[in-house]
Amino acid sequence: MIYDTVIIGAGISGLYQLHRLRELGQRVRVFEAGTGVGGTWYWNRYPGCRFDSESYSYGYSFSQELLEEWSWTEHFAPQPETERYLNHVADKFDLRRDIQLRSRVKAATWDEGDRTWGITLEDGARCRARYLVTAVGPLSAPTLPRIPGVEAFGGEAYHTGLWPKHPVTFEGKRVAVIGTGATGVQAITEIAKTAGHLTVFQRRPNWCTPLHNRPIPSEEMAEIRRGYPEIFKRCQETAACFVHTIDPRGTFEVTEAERLAFWEELYASPGFGIWQGNFRDMMIDREANRLISEFVAGKIRQRVKDPKIAELLIPKDHGFGTRRVPQETHYYEVYNQPNVELISILETPIERITPTGIRTSARAYTVDLIVYATGFDAITGGFDRIDIRGRGGRTLRDRWRGGPATFMGVMMDGFPNLYMVMGPHTALGNIPRSIEYNVEWIRDVLAYLDARGLRCAEPRPEAVAEWTDFVKKKGEGLLSNEVDSWMTGVNQNVEGKQVRIVARYSGTAPEYRAWCDRVAADGYRELVLG
Ligand SMILES: Cc1cc2nc3c(=O)[nH]c(=O)nc-3n(C[C@H](O)[C@H](O)[C@H](O)COP(=O)(O)OP(=O)(O)OC[C@H]3O[C@@H](n4cnc5c(N)ncnc54)[C@H](O)[C@@H]3O)c2cc1C
Repeated sequence: MIYDTVIIGAGISGLYQLHRLRELGQRVRVFEAGTGVGGTWYWNRYPGCRFDSESYSYGYSFSQELLEEWSWTEHFAPQPETERYLNHVADKFDLRRDIQLRSRVKAATWDEGDRTWGITLEDGARCRARYLVTAVGPLSAPTLPRIPGVEAFGGEAYHTGLWPKHPVTFEGKRVAVIGTGATGVQAITEIAKTAGHLTVFQRRPNWCTPLHNRPIPSEEMAEIRRGYPEIFKRCQETAACFVHTIDPRGTFEVTEAERLAFWEELYASPGFGIWQGNFRDMMIDREANRLISEFVAGKIRQRVKDPKIAELLIPKDHGFGTRRVPQETHYYEVYNQPNVELISILETPIERITPTGIRTSARAYTVDLIVYATGFDAITGGFDRIDIRGRGGRTLRDRWRGGPATFMGVMMDGFPNLYMVMGPHTALGNIPRSIEYNVEWIRDVLAYLDARGLRCAEPRPEAVAEWTDFVKKKGEGLLSNEVDSWMTGVNQNVEGKQVRIVARYSGTAPEYRAWCDRVAADGYRELVLG
């Protein structure tokens, strides 16, 4: 079977790309590994999973009808609501007839002879397509910890990113959670409500700040609906596409009293304001960063009764905001509960998972259930799990060894007619805003090719080098690039990912879009067309 385009993945990216490519009259096939649509919001069913983005700033903006008919029930919607939303989108735009579920793409190989991509699924089925669009997600390749014995455990064990569809209860059980990143923080808070005993294994704490979620009554939803044009306009203007925007003042341009009052206000406000709406120098000035870190540390000390536990929960190896800030609802108070115990695995490393539980260097913990909140092989992980071979049989994995290089996160030299939605080095932030932009940019290139009877596009190597250099330059001076995190490409659980790289674009989204707009306006001179 020959398609015009094969899309890999049916999350927010894949669904929207399918919708837009149909407009070109294309024959499109979407292959999705899961048994349902929604991507992140299909897989991450763990208790407590919800948005960090304001719901109404996260949903698609492209359809007025959709905006008018969908009501978000909470400012930061829980996973089941977002999964329902994406299913609604799939139905509304009649997307399902082109989506093949339970279909994991194993390999994609460029055929120079007929200039098509040969696609192989895990079950051996094959097809061909002129264009290949990856919509595999920046956080979609779950990783288990590299601890001996993971397979040996005799009780229930779940990775948060592969959470089962059947109900999981914690009532009265001895539960262990490994990992205290954004996901762990959400899950721990929820599990602590019913677990008989919860042991949290923490390698390194994160700076967590209150989410301040609340329901959206119908009158407020009507108001939000009226405000959509303003909300999306704002998201287009801010650095990371959130409704929050960086404060133009420097930390030391205000008095100490003003500074503290501002931080109190941010700490008491919903969402990422304290991270994305703070003083402009917070992420580049060490002293400014030290002060905000001290402020947040003070909050943790106030909220956790046992001073020793409070100190364990305060990051010492990175400043506030230099890693992704988990948002929480009474997370710190969990550690005041008698049924919750915090173990630092820096102090007493986990030696192995045993058939009955977890053994650290200090002692054995017998548990009924283990939750692995150990995250993802981020950004390139979804690509690395597919054998993608371009011109001359060269693999993408090999091309990106030592750090990814792309043309605006969307294309790659040596890989003709390969397009990436949310590829490495694209703008991240409040992600759907960038997804919509990427998808439309790709649709426009394909329309441009069609209109001229062309069949093939590939970025020039110098254009890839220029963008990659720009990305590196944008990361210079940022305190976040001095810290191990998925944003600097480090994952202790993935072989070959122990060295920091520039894994993400840290310029602003408006700058990103300006670059991409210019390429299109100038007639795609950076691409070899044929
Ligand atoms: C728990 C969690 C919370 C998040 N919260 C926010 C938030 O509040 N705000 C925000 O902006 N972002 C958030 N994100 C990031 C989120 O991933 C993006 O917002 C968005 O969902 C990405 O959409 P996507 O379609 O690009 O990728 P995904 O949603 O990851 O979808 C990719 C799809 O591709 C499929 N796939 C991958 N490889 C293959 C293959 N080889 N064959 C077939 N199918 C394949 C996967 O099964 C998956 O369904 C969160 C992420 C997580 C994990």
